[in-house]
Amino acid sequence: MRRIRLLIVLLALVSLQVNAQDMAHYKRIVKELSSARYQGRGYARGGANRAGRFLEKEYARAGADEVTRQPFTLDVQTFAGKMEMVADGKKLRPGVDFSMREYSPGVRGEFPVYHVDTLHFDGERMLADLAKPENQGCLVACDFWFTYRHRDVFSRLQKEGECPNAGLIYLWPSPIKFFKAYAHRVVDKPIVWVTPEAIEGVRRVRLNVDARFLKDYECFNVIAKIAGERHDSCYVFTAHYDHVGNLGRRVFYAGANDNASGTAALVTLAAYYAQHRPPFDMYFLAFSGEDANLRGSTYFVEHPIVPLRQIRYLFNIDMIGDNNPMQYCEVSDEGAAGLALFEQINSEKHYFKALRRGDLAANSDHYPFAQRHVPCIFLENESGDAFQYYHTIFDDWQHAVTDSYEPVFRLVRDFVERY
Ligand SMILES: [Zn+2]
Repeated sequence: MRRIRLLIVLLALVSLQVNAQDMAHYKRIVKELSSARYQGRGYARGGANRAGRFLEKEYARAGADEVTRQPFTLDVQTFAGKMEMVADGKKLRPGVDFSMREYSPGVRGEFPVYHVDTLHFDGERMLADLAKPENQGCLVACDFWFTYRHRDVFSRLQKEGECPNAGLIYLWPSPIKFFKAYAHRVVDKPIVWVTPEAIEGVRRVRLNVDARFLKDYECFNVIAKIAGERHDSCYVFTAHYDHVGNLGRRVFYAGANDNASGTAALVTLAAYYAQHRPPFDMYFLAFSGEDANLRGSTYFVEHPIVPLRQIRYLFNIDMIGDNNPMQYCEVSDEGAAGLALFEQINSEKHYFKALRRGDLAANSDHYPFAQRHVPCIFLENESGDAFQYYHTIFDDWQHAVTDSYEPVFRLVRDFVERY
C-alpha cells in the first residue's frame, strides 16, 4: 500500500516535471520570438524569415522527423525608415501617439490640419469646403469610425484628382494600433492614425515618413512532421509566426501574444509528440504572412503537402498569451462534431470555465481550411489582460501572460487521445 502511494507521488512528480518543462520551453520561445532580434517579425528588416529559420532549428531540436520550408511571395508596404510627426511644434511618438495606415504611402512636408465637424456633418458641404483655396493641401482629421460610416465620401479623399487635400488623419483612441492586413497595395495619399489627445486643436503638422513597397517578397511557412502509427490520415496544428514588423527605425511590434504565444505552443506540442508517438501522422504548420491577410495559410491550401481530405482535425492556435477563463473558439461546419468533444473534455477537466463559440470569420489561418471543408477549430484566448494590447507596441514579453497555455495544451492533447 505504502509502495503504491509512493509510486503515485512519484508519478505525479514526474508529470509535474514534464509540465514545468513544457512551460519553461514555451516561455523561452515566446521571449526569443518577441525579442529585438526579430524586429516584430515583419518584412523590411527580414525579421519574419529570421524567425522562420529559428523555428526550423527548434523543431529539429524538439525531435521532429522532418522539417521543411514552403516558400511563397507577397507584396507588402513597409515602414522601417524615417518616422517623424510634429504637431504644432510638439514631437509625437511613433507607436504611442501615432502610427501609419498600412496602405499609406510615405510622406514628407508640412500641412495645415482640417478638423471635420462630425456634429453637423454634410459630405457634399465638406468636399466644397476642402476645395476652397485656404484648405488646399490640408490633412483631413476625423474619428476613424466616423470615416468608416461615411466611407463613400472619405474614400474619395484617398484618391488623387478627387479632392485637393494632401492626405488624412484618422483619430484612434490610445493605445494606437498598427496593422498589415491591407498592405498589399498603396493608396495615392498618406493616411496617419493619431490619438485624439495628440491632434486635438492642432493647426499644422509636419511629417517625415519613409515607406518601401516590397514586391514579390519571398517568405516561407515552416512545416514539421512527426510520423504516427498510421499514415492514411493526420492531425494538423497551425499557428502564424509573422507579425507587423517595424514602425520606423526604432519601434517594432514584438507580438508576444500575437502570435509568439501560439507558435511557441506548437513547438512544445511537437516536442511532446516526439516523446509520445501519436496514433496518426502529425503536421505542425508555422505560417508566415498571416497578419498580411492570411497569405501563408492561403498558399498552403492551394499547394497542400498532404491531401486536405486526409486531415482528421486541424487546431489553429492564435493569441493564447492571455488569461481569460472563458476560451474563445470557432469551428468549421465539419469541425462541429469535434467541438462537442472539446466541450465534454473541458467540462470533465475544468481547463476553462467554458468555451465560447463565435461565428466563423476570416480572422486567422483556420479560415482558408474551413472554406475547403477541413474539420478545424480556432483557439484564441481573447478579452483577457493581454488583449487590450492587441496590435500595439505593448504586446511584448513584459506584458505576456502565460495562464492559458497549459489549459490549451491539455485540451488539445486530450482531444487527440479521444477523437
Ligand atoms: Zn495579428
